[in-house]
Amino acid sequence: MKIHILTLFPEMFAGPFSCSILKRAVDEGAAEIRIHNLRDWAAGRHRITDDSPFGGGVGMVLKPEPVYRAVEELRENTGCRVILFSPQGKVFRQETAQELAREKGLILICGRYEGVDERIRALADRQVSIGDYVLTGGEIPAMVVVDAVVRLLPGVLGGGEAATTDDSFAAGLLEGPHYTKPRSFRGLSVPEVLLAGNHAAVRRWRRKESLRCTLRSRPELLLVAPLGREDLELLAEIEKEEGPRPAFVSAAE
Ligand code: SAM
Repeated sequence: MKIHILTLFPEMFAGPFSCSILKRAVDEGAAEIRIHNLRDWAAGRHRITDDSPFGGGVGMVLKPEPVYRAVEELRENTGCRVILFSPQGKVFRQETAQELAREKGLILICGRYEGVDERIRALADRQVSIGDYVLTGGEIPAMVVVDAVVRLLPGVLGGGEAATTDDSFAAGLLEGPHYTKPRSFRGLSVPEVLLAGNHAAVRRWRRKESLRCTLRSRPELLLVAPLGREDLELLAEIEKEEGPRPAFVSAAE
C-alpha cells in the first residue's frame, strides 16, 4: 500500500516511522510511506501556506491552493483515496482501519493552524477525527491512522490474519488478559487453566475473560457485538460471579 502524507512538519514523522513494525513493513515492501512538505506546492519565494481568516477572528487558516495542487498531482499519479484529518470528521475506529487497509493507497492531509480553508474538504473522500479533542495539527492523527492500518496489511505481523483477529475491537469485544513467565510474581499467579495444556479450556477462558473485560470497561460494546449462545452462557456465569450486569446490556439480549 502507498501512503502519502501531506504536512508542514515532515520532521515530526522521523521517530515513529523509523522503528519496530512500521519500519519493518516499509523495509519489506508491504507499505510505502512518503512524507511530503506542503510548502513544495506553495507559490512564491516565501512559499506561504496560511493566511488570515475572512471575516476576522483569531489564528490563521491553511490555504487551499497548495493542498489542491499536491492532492491533484499525487492522486492523478496513484489513484489513492484522500483523507483529511479534522475534529469534525467521523471518529476513527478499528473498522475504519480495516476498511482503509483494503485501499490501494492513501493520501493523508494534515491540517494546521486554526484549521483548513473550508474548500479543502471537497478534496477529501473521508474526514477523519481521532477523538473528541483538539490537537495542534493532523500529524499525530496521521501517525495513529498509519500505525493502525499498516499493522493490518497482509504479512506485516507474524502469524498472519490470526495475529489481529483477537485484538480488541476486531470482533466487537475488548481482548482479555495475557500472562508470561514467571508463573508467580509478587504473590500474583498465572491462572491455572493457562498452564494445564487443555486448548479447549484455554479458548473458553479467553473468550470469557474478553467478555468480562468488555463488560467492566466498555459495556456499551456488548450492545452491538455479535454474541453467540456460548457468549450468553459465559455472560451468565460472569453475572453469577460478579453480580448483575448493567440493565441496558441485559435488555439488549
Ligand atoms: N479550530 C479547529 C476546530 O476547532 O475544529 C481545530 C484546528 S486544529 C488546531 C488544526 C488541525 O489539527 C486540524 O485542521 C486537523 O487537521 C488537526 N486535528 C486537530 N484535532 C484533531 C482530531 N481530534 N482529529 C483529527 N485531526 C485533528
